Amino acid sequence: MSAQNLSFAYGQDTVLENVNLEFEAGEFVALIGPNGAGKTTLLKLLAGLLKPQNGSLQTPEPKSKHIAYLAQSEPLPLEFTALEVVKLGRIPFQGFWGRETIADLGAVECALRSTDALRFANRQISALSGGERQRVALARALAQDPKVLLLDEPTNHLDLSHQAELMVLLRNAVGSILQTVIMVVHDLNLAALASRCVLISNGVVMVEGTPEQVLKPDILEDVYQTKLETLRSSDGRVVVIPRL
Ligand code: ADP
Repeated sequence: MSAQNLSFAYGQDTVLENVNLEFEAGEFVALIGPNGAGKTTLLKLLAGLLKPQNGSLQTPEPKSKHIAYLAQSEPLPLEFTALEVVKLGRIPFQGFWGRETIADLGAVECALRSTDALRFANRQISALSGGERQRVALARALAQDPKVLLLDEPTNHLDLSHQAELMVLLRNAVGSILQTVIMVVHDLNLAALASRCVLISNGVVMVEGTPEQVLKPDILEDVYQTKLETLRSSDGRVVVIPRL
């Protein structure tokens, strides 16, 4: 999947300019940058939900099967059960009569299990917490069995244990059940778990590279306009904290 010279404007307001990015199979990419930098817009362009004014995109086709997109606050039908919502992820695979196959049911169960949502599969969405709803939305995206998974702030609403579980799930999923994960994330300590960070500021790609190459105080202080420092976790990950 790749973008060449991608530019996008909402009306007269240019939000992305000449974005060139390549996403390889086996990559877990974190899109980071300040509020309003253009991260969500880029994700929507990659998902095919917006059309660029300039430039081109190469994406796996048909997108309905191969690209799953999970918005920041995914609206879910409140009267559906979690199971019914996750089954919606299989619609691109079903024929005219919409009959479920064993493969459909297997993909749905696997998605519910991997997002730790199996135990509330029969509860209505209206009776689930924000974090539980988030996991149902993710399960629906995984049930689609996509090649590319696009996630906008997937850790919103998740408590610490489910944030950690989600990161492990995504890291393990890349290269096994799907090819590429591209995730917009605010928390730079979660971005540090990705294989590549792409730092966007004012609609341009400022820096991209491994978390070690991108999550550096001199780079981040400039873009986020705040003082910060980096530490190392016991397992060697970069940890970014603001200096107060
Ligand atoms: P980020 O995800 O990095 O916070 P966004 O891509 O959401 O940034 O937004 C980039 C810029 O585009 C912001 O200035 C935002 O206000 C503007 N914007 C986003 N969506 C729209 C829209 N639908 N119409 C007009 N402007 C928008």
